[in-house]
Order: sequence, then C-alpha cells, then structure tokens
Amino acid sequence: ATTLEVKDVSFRYANGPWVLNNVSLTIEDGERVALVGPSGYGKSTLAKIMAGYLKPVKGTVLWGGKALPKDEYRPVQLVYQHPEKALNSRWKMKHSLAEAGVQDPEIIREVGIREKWLERWPNELSGGELQRFCLVRALGEQTRILIADEMTTMLDAVNQAHIWQFLLSHADKKKMGIILITHNMYLAKQVATRIIDVPSINNISVRTDDL
Ligand code: ADP
Ligand code: ADP
Repeated sequence: ATTLEVKDVSFRYANGPWVLNNVSLTIEDGERVALVGPSGYGKSTLAKIMAGYLKPVKGTVLWGGKALPKDEYRPVQLVYQHPEKALNSRWKMKHSLAEAGVQDPEIIREVGIREKWLERWPNELSGGELQRFCLVRALGEQTRILIADEMTTMLDAVNQAHIWQFLLSHADKKKMGIILITHNMYLAKQVATRIIDVPSINNISVRTDDL
C-alpha cells in the first residue's frame, strides 16, 4: 500500500501564531482514520496540508515516499465544510463534475444528486446540495484517500446516514482510505479503525478567543 506521510510539519498563517507544531502522522491508503479534538487545534489546516492546498512552513508531506503530486493526478482529495469555496462559481454543476473527471452515474445517484441540478449554477443550490457535489467531485477514479472535514454537517440525519453507508461500501470496493475530521465521536467510531486525538500530536497553545 502507498502511504501518506506527514513529517515534522509546522504551519502558521502569515505572521500569526503557530497552528501546527511538529506534527507527524502516517496513513496507509485504504486505512480509515478519524482526527478528533476541540476546535482550534489545527485539524482543518492539517487537512488542507495533507491535500496539498497549503504548503507546510516546516516539514514535508510525502505520498509513497515522494512529494505530494500537484498536477492532474491527485490521490488525496479533500471535502470540507464550505462547499461554495470549492466549486467554480462560473461553471454549471455538470461542468464541475466533468472537469473533475467524474462520470460514474451510480456514484452521482447514490450521493443523491438529481439530474436537474446538473443544469444549475453553484448559487442555485443549498449548502447540503453543494456538499454532495463536492463529495462526488472528490470521488474520481484516481482518489486513494478521501479527507472528509465535517463534510456532512449541512445534511439531515437520514441523508447523512445514507451517504456514509454508500461511502463506506465505495471505499471498500475501491480500497480507498478515509480521513474523517469530526466532532461526532459516534460517527468517528463507526467510520474509523484508528482514532487520533489531535491535541496529543500537535503541541500548541490554543487562543481562547478561538474556542
Ligand atoms: P480546527 O479545524 O481544529 O478547528 P483550524 O485549522 O480551523 O482548527 O484552525 C487552527 C487555527 O488557525 C485557529 O486559531 C484558526 O483561527 C486559525 N486559522 C484557520 N484558518 C485561518 C486563516 N485562513 N487565516 C488565519 N488564521 C486561520
Ligand atoms: P482543479 O483543477 O481540480 O479544480 P484546483 O487547484 O482548482 O484543481 O483545486 C481542486 C479543488 O480544491 C477545487 O475544488 C478547488 O476550488 C479547491 N481548492 C483549491 N485550493 C483550495 C484552498 N486553498 N482551500 C480550499 N479549497 C481549495
């Protein structure tokens, strides 16, 4: 299996305080891991670093022993809380999916996307609908690890349960790993075989105005 290695990663935004301090973590593709811990401990920042959206200030992220690919081949995909930021506002939904190379109609159907939504612009969909689009976008053939950062927060319980059920069977079938970031311990225990308490791997002082 290919591993995703976070090695001695430290990060700060601009001249702000350090939000990641010497974080190291190894995840196998196919593995299911949950990252848990209170707000402000850098979980979302770590997710963006693991997906290659942010560059570590110190340390490295390796995929199969090499620098994380930044071109068309993106083995690590991130779906996060703010779906509107991840979709191109000038593209209809069908264009966004085509551009991401997602064609499998079964995946589109299972995630609960209706045919008529494909003709809409991002601002014509609800937060929950956008989250589903972002999830489908992230499930291209090349995806080896899906990072789900509070991904289903805008969905009701029934839809959440259905999506997770689908996602776990999809992950099994494709041997795709999942890194789940959540405050929901129940979900973490259902999805993950390893639960990592982020404050125990990221030794920072959290500003109380963030809590
Ligand atoms: P968590 O996901 O554990 O709640 P985050 O990674 O979202 O943690 O945030 C860690 C810290 O980084 C917080 O203090 C947060 O305010 C700060 N932070 C997050 N995003 C930005 C940003 N774009 N610019 C500046 N500071 C940020
Ligand atoms: P692509 O060609 O696949 O759109 P991008 O570099 O635009 O490649 O990014 C892939 C996805 O990640 C897109 O949905 C994009 O909007 C989103 N994305 C890019 N950079 C960031 C970032 N800094 N924070 C969050 N999402 C990002």
